[in-house]
Amino acid sequence: MALKLLAYRKKRNFKKTPEPSGTKKRAVKKPLFVVQKHYASHLHYDFRLEMEGVLKSWAVPKGIPTKTAEKRLAIETEDHPLEYAYFKGVIPEGQYGAGRVEIWDRGTFINLKEIPLKKSYRNGRMELELKGKKLKGAFALIHFREKQWLLIKMKKRSLEG
Ligand code: MN
Repeated sequence: MALKLLAYRKKRNFKKTPEPSGTKKRAVKKPLFVVQKHYASHLHYDFRLEMEGVLKSWAVPKGIPTKTAEKRLAIETEDHPLEYAYFKGVIPEGQYGAGRVEIWDRGTFINLKEIPLKKSYRNGRMELELKGKKLKGAFALIHFREKQWLLIKMKKRSLEG
């Protein structure tokens, strides 16, 4: 896990930014997702999914799709620590990602594929059911080019019936 956060830590000075350095572990129950609204130089939404002890992360410039079959570009960014799912605040001017971060939605998710999530991540085709306050239902993440994915809202499809 420490290795996975190298890129995250290298970009940041934790004496200057209020963001978490990522030292805590948590008892894993249902995996978490979070969407943060980030007022950086370009407003975007950060979509993060718990996987293998970190938050896999994508920047979604145009926000999360709300209608079935709607697609949004999602650019993969560095893994973030799990504590980041609870981070909101202001990253100071001059620091990486400077600007305000708000929690736009948070909840748990279910892997809709019959193979482990990390495998569908590596295959570049993930299907999830999000259980947030705003976001509910099935979404797919499809990898199509280096660091570039499409986040797609799918028809409701739950393993729980
Ligand atoms: Mn961001």
